Amino acid sequence: MKATKGKKATKQITEQDSAKLKELFVDGLKDIYWAEKNLAKALTKMSKNATSEELKAAFEQHNTETEEHAARLEQIFEQIGEKAQAKKCAAMEGLIEEANEIIESTDKGTMVRDCGLIMAAQKVEHYEIASYGTLRNIARTLGHNEVADLLQQTLDQEGETDHKLTELAEAYVNEEASVE
Ligand code: FE
Ligand code: FE
Repeated sequence: MKATKGKKATKQITEQDSAKLKELFVDGLKDIYWAEKNLAKALTKMSKNATSEELKAAFEQHNTETEEHAARLEQIFEQIGEKAQAKKCAAMEGLIEEANEIIESTDKGTMVRDCGLIMAAQKVEHYEIASYGTLRNIARTLGHNEVADLLQQTLDQEGETDHKLTELAEAYVNEEASVE
């Protein structure tokens, strides 16, 4: 049923639609490019402020990946013949602001701060997962299959990061439970 639906939608895309869809696609790439670039700075701050070594390491690792994501986007811009340009992403700006608020409102060296940072980071990952999933679908619709594969690579890393953060959060719960 789902497959039929998808097919139908693809068939309905006219040449004119395709040009507009490409525009939407490029705009989406610019938005996530801004997000990745700004996220790299935010993750450095989050790592510095995290309490546990595991969370610090997770943020640092994802910081490296985030730089890869920005570089991958530059490669994508080149492949589709567009200039790599960042366009301010209001959603990511807000999510980064939330992370900063958590640092301000929690005490240094506490697990409460780590739980807050994990919450903020997972919101970021979910935003990225939604963005990359849609962009990958549009790339396929436009026939940019290599670009779709590149977007999938980033999408996989965002998903892995999200799972890792869930595992860290669960480990905290278990630790807390064993103390009591
Ligand atoms: Fe990313
Ligand atoms: Fe990410």
